[in-house]
Amino acid sequence: MMLNLYNTLSRRKEVFKPIKRGAVGFYACGPTVYSNQHLGNYRTFILNDLLKRALVREGYRVKHIMNVTDVGHLTGDNLGDADVGKDRIEESAKREGKSALEVAKYYTDAFLGDLRVLNILSPTKLVKATAHIKEMIALIRTLEKKGYTYTIKDGVYFDTSKFKSYGKLSQQTGGKRAGARVEPVAGKKNPADFALWKFSKPNEKRQMEWKSQWGVGFPGWHIECSAMSMRYLGKTFEIHSGGEDHIAIHHENEIAQSEAATGKQFVKYWVHGRFMMVDGKRMGKSEGNAFIPQDLVAKGYNPLSFRYLALGSHYRARLNFTWEALSGAQSALHKLYHDFALFGFIGKESGKKGDTKKYEKAFFASVNDDLNISKALAVVHELIADNKVSAILKRKLLLEFDNILGLGLNNSDKLAKPPAEIRKLVVERERSRIHKQFTKADTLRAKIEKLGYIVEDTSEGPFVWPTKM
Ligand code: AMP
Ligand code: ZN
Repeated sequence: MMLNLYNTLSRRKEVFKPIKRGAVGFYACGPTVYSNQHLGNYRTFILNDLLKRALVREGYRVKHIMNVTDVGHLTGDNLGDADVGKDRIEESAKREGKSALEVAKYYTDAFLGDLRVLNILSPTKLVKATAHIKEMIALIRTLEKKGYTYTIKDGVYFDTSKFKSYGKLSQQTGGKRAGARVEPVAGKKNPADFALWKFSKPNEKRQMEWKSQWGVGFPGWHIECSAMSMRYLGKTFEIHSGGEDHIAIHHENEIAQSEAATGKQFVKYWVHGRFMMVDGKRMGKSEGNAFIPQDLVAKGYNPLSFRYLALGSHYRARLNFTWEALSGAQSALHKLYHDFALFGFIGKESGKKGDTKKYEKAFFASVNDDLNISKALAVVHELIADNKVSAILKRKLLLEFDNILGLGLNNSDKLAKPPAEIRKLVVERERSRIHKQFTKADTLRAKIEKLGYIVEDTSEGPFVWPTKM
C-alpha cells in the first residue's frame, strides 16, 4: 500500500516517496523543557507517533530525530516575535531556584515519562540544543559567508529579504505577520528577520552563554532545528513535523536558514497538526488553560483515554478538549479492552473462522489516507461486531491494528484477572448456580458488582471484568 500524506508545502495530499529506498529521515520539533508539556503538545506528539508507526508498518526504517530546546526559546515568540522576551529556561530556573541545567533535566525526564504513559514511541535520538552549539555556530558562519546575515546591537540576524522564496510554506510575503502584538527588535531590516545568535546583555549574567566570533551569547531558537536536523538527517530529508503554530514562523525560518546555507531543498514533506483547544482558545501554558498528563491521573483517568480521544479526530482539524469528551473516550477504550480480553477468554473454543481480509485492508487504507485514524477506529468497531469472525481471529487482527493505534490492548487481559477476594466470590456464585441456588447466586453477583466487577457467563465459564478502569 502507499502512504498518502498532506504536505503543507504543496497544500495537497501527496504519495509519500522516500529519497532513498526503504529509509525515512523524520525530524519532529520537540519540547521546550522549561515546564511540563501539556495535552495540546501531546496531541502533536501523538501525531508524530502515528505517522512513525504508519511508516514502520509500510516497511520503512525510520530515523526519528527530536530536539529538546534547552536554551534560546524566548517568551515573546507566542506573541509573534521570537526575538524578544526572556529565555524560558533561565526564567524557570530563577523561579524554581534551580540551575538551568537542573530545570532542563527535570522536565526532559518528565517528558520521557509522559511519552511512556501515552504509549508514544521514543525518538531514535533525542538531541539537546545545548549539545549542538558548535553545529549552530558553523551554520551561522556559512550563512554569514554567503551574505545572508547582518549584525545589530541585539545579535546576528538573518536577512529574509535575501532569501527569495521566504514565506513559501505559509504562503505569505514580506514578513508582515497577522497577530504580531509586540514591538520588533530595534535595527531589524525586515519585520520577518530573525535572530541567529543573540548577545548576552552587558548587565545580565546568563547561566547559559557561549563564546562566538560575534560575541558572547546564545543561539536563536530557530537555528537549533536546522543545525540538528541536518546534522543527523542530511541536507535534504523526508519529513518534518510540528504544530500549526510553527508553520508561519519557526518552520519558515528553518527553511530559509537551511536552504540558504546548502542551496538544496531542506525537507520534502511538511506535516502540521492543528491545535488542541479549550473553549475556543488554543491550549497553552501561557493561556493558563493547559492540563498535563498527571492531571488526568489525579482525576482518575487512564492517560491512554487521552490518546484514544486524540485518535478520534483528524490531525488536520482542531480538537476541543472537554472532560466530557475525555470520559466518553475512556468508556470507549474500556469497552475495547473488555472486548479484547473477552475474545481471549473465549478464544480457544472459537476456532479460526471468518474473513478478516476486508477489515485489514480497510483499516490500513484509512491509516494510509493521511492518517485517517478515526475511520480506522470505525473499522475496529465493525470487526468487533462481526459475528461471523471468530474471537481468536479478531484478537489477532486487533493486536496488529494496535501496532498503529498504540492503545495498549495487550494489557487488557490483566484487567480480567480480579483480586483473590473477587475470584472467591465468583467461584461461590458458580457453585450456587450449578446447584440451582439462584437467589444465592444473584445475591453474590450483586455483591461482586458492589465491589466493582461484573460477571458475564460465557461458554468458557464466568468472565469477570472491572466496571471502571
Ligand atoms: P513547545 O514546547 O511550545 O515548543 O511545543 C511543542 C510542540 O507542541 C510543538 O510542535 C507545538 O507546535 C505543539 N503545540 C503547542 N501548543 C499546542 C496545542 N494547543 N495543540 C497542539 N499542539 C501544540
Ligand atoms: Zn523546531
